[in-house]
Amino acid sequence: MWYHDKELKFECQEGCSKCCEVESGEYGHVSFHHTDVERLSVQERKEVIWLGRANTKKHEYWEVPITWNSPCMFLENYAADGDPDINGCNVHNVKPKPCAAYPFWPVVMESEEAWNKEAEFCPGIGKGDVIIDVQERLDSVKDYPNLER
Ligand code: SF4
Ligand code: SF4
Repeated sequence: MWYHDKELKFECQEGCSKCCEVESGEYGHVSFHHTDVERLSVQERKEVIWLGRANTKKHEYWEVPITWNSPCMFLENYAADGDPDINGCNVHNVKPKPCAAYPFWPVVMESEEAWNKEAEFCPGIGKGDVIIDVQERLDSVKDYPNLER
């Protein structure tokens, strides 16, 4: 794989929440596996209870849509004006695996070109320390279908 001999740096940037929301007119989704919801359930939040109920059909994987005026339910202090300084994930320590693994998703890691293109979106790519467990992060989400922003 192209990344095996590369030193890829990544550090999520404080105050950024670009991958938890979308621009006006765009659509996205947040991907969950049932184990993600089990992990989230340590937080007794109404959103988590809703997520558990939404999964009544017991799909192994499923997606919760996000739109411009309805970002991820776990994005805290979301402001309609999109002020990036006040947004953040309020389930950071138990977030779904795809969120924890981003940007090391199959669709991003399929080529160096895709990685460089993602860097145009994510300001954390190229910042911080070299990531030494790239393959582990990638492997942790390899079975999630439709994993794309
Ligand atoms: S786009 Fe990158 S820097 Fe911004 S919140 Fe997502 S991972 Fe962090
Ligand atoms: S769970 Fe957290 S990191 Fe994942 S999309 Fe929602 S707010 Fe962002």
